[in-house]
Amino acid sequence: MKPIRYTIVPKQPAAHLFEVTVRVDDPDPAGQRFMLPVWIPGSYMVREFARNIVTLRALNDAGRKVRIEKTDKHTWQAAPVKGALTLRYEVYAWDMSVRAAHLDDTTGFFNGTSTFLSPLGHEHAPCVVDIQKPDGPAYRNWRVATALPEARGTKRYGFGEYQAQNYDELVDHPVTLGEFALASFDAHGVPHDIVIAGRVVGLDMARLQADLKRICEAQIALFEPRSKKAPVERYVFMTQAVADGYGGLEHRASTSLICNRSDLPVAGREELTDGYRTYLGLCSHEYFHTWNVKRIKPAAFAPYDLTRENYTSLLWLFEGFTSYYDDLILVRCGAIGEADYLTMVGRTIAGVLRSSGRLKQTVAESSFDAWVKYYRQDENAPNAIVSYYQKGSLVALAFDLTIRAQTGNRRSLDDVMRLLWQRYGRDFYRGKALGLEEGDVEALFAEATGVDLNELFANGVHGTRDLPLAELLAPAGIELAPELVPNGKPSLGVRVRGGADCTLTAVHDGSAAQKAGLSAGDVLIAIDGLRVTGANLDALLARYVPGAKVEIHAFRRDELRVVSLKLDGPEVVRYKLTVKGETGKGGKGAKAVKGAKAEPGKSGKSDKIDKNSEAARSWRASWLGR
Ligand SMILES: [Zn+2]
Repeated sequence: MKPIRYTIVPKQPAAHLFEVTVRVDDPDPAGQRFMLPVWIPGSYMVREFARNIVTLRALNDAGRKVRIEKTDKHTWQAAPVKGALTLRYEVYAWDMSVRAAHLDDTTGFFNGTSTFLSPLGHEHAPCVVDIQKPDGPAYRNWRVATALPEARGTKRYGFGEYQAQNYDELVDHPVTLGEFALASFDAHGVPHDIVIAGRVVGLDMARLQADLKRICEAQIALFEPRSKKAPVERYVFMTQAVADGYGGLEHRASTSLICNRSDLPVAGREELTDGYRTYLGLCSHEYFHTWNVKRIKPAAFAPYDLTRENYTSLLWLFEGFTSYYDDLILVRCGAIGEADYLTMVGRTIAGVLRSSGRLKQTVAESSFDAWVKYYRQDENAPNAIVSYYQKGSLVALAFDLTIRAQTGNRRSLDDVMRLLWQRYGRDFYRGKALGLEEGDVEALFAEATGVDLNELFANGVHGTRDLPLAELLAPAGIELAPELVPNGKPSLGVRVRGGADCTLTAVHDGSAAQKAGLSAGDVLIAIDGLRVTGANLDALLARYVPGAKVEIHAFRRDELRVVSLKLDGPEVVRYKLTVKGETGKGGKGAKAVKGAKAEPGKSGKSDKIDKNSEAARSWRASWLGR
């Protein structure tokens, strides 16, 4: 097949326009059709990228116009031509996210799903794309970052021709343009690039290199413990640093990330901030996807259909398990400590248990409906849906702890991941593009571990019963306990947007607010005659006890309503995971441990307790690698 030739040029950065051409040397004699994807793999929502195509025309070999018309929202049909056919079009790029395309005079970024029309019937043809530099001295120092292989004659990070074996590969390599910070490291012999676009003062690139290397090597060793063979020949972490943003998208040999510039480490400061931990967790998450969803894939994604929703009930495995391993890898490779890790697990547990949606939707159902529910959440989401990320990661935790308990730590969820990798992932891009069928999952887990996991599948994956996490954490010597808001402060059972107005963003099932007829969108004005704002709600409620009766004034649209209600009890802020027998190091930690029955027993029993805690310690060492 003749290659499809693309050019892309940041034509008018100030107007946020890329100009793109696609040339087909052997177009369909009946009239060539072209398609632009409606979604980008990894982000399960129909986004209609074709709406950003501003102008489009078709030309024949002689440069004469060829008739072309749209046949639906994302498909074009050209009239038959002799010889080659070229389309020339503009793409509006003003979306500062990882999902589409962005261009101004400081930086450019694009995904092929937003920019490259696919000539139908030529999906398997090789592609060549000429990435051109914008005109003008302001762009003299711009470079190109992408995991797309360079064509002959193109230097790494240079403008020029890049190539892909087919359309699927072409659009799986996002591209960053501009002046960016760049560093590289090797992970088990494979080069990895770190690209940071956006202004970041005092960036500690050396620390990033060291931390990402540990993370990547731990993941490579998890999937290939013997050979330590990475799944790629080269990998690129691309980050756009902004004032306020968070997100990432996985690709087969790279990831595009967006983060707060304040999350990135500062040279000369050693502390591990929450922001940096979150950023490392994001990098770890997207890197894990290099195996889990970019190569081990559900059958529904093998191949992707980019013209419509692709339904799978398995996102709990592909996103949930990835969410489990992202932080687990951080603790295993030493990027964070055990206590930090347990705090993060406690937050996830609270996040899941806070919403009654978990009692109405299974993670398998949530996966299937991601397109219309998880990705399109409204004010009723907490009462209607469960996150296949959060609950999915707890399901992974439950699988891991169950397998470990039943096998004396000789088997674990790692064995499941390795079998998935060997059977589906390793050869996915080597001519064996086999996807995981939903009906084969349970048997594969049993084969990998020898453990009967039917009950966990029934209750955790296909049921809504809460997972028995307290029981499962016990052999690791970890106690799970809810932690209430301080001072027993009562609550309304709502979520609120902070600020000058006290706007309810969600009203929980069965809450005091719901019983009194308050709804999401209502703006609270006063509690017992005192003005309430998004900022002082907590302080006002802190003066009452649970069960106290209060009068609330609120606006629904422009209509005032007055309700009285009995305040709910204090909310659970988080779940605390405490290692038994650990004495805190003073301060807050010591206080929390005190209630956890952690004191050694009285005389005579201490030997047994020592043995128990020793067993628990080695259990944790096996699980957390510490
Ligand atoms: Zn993910």
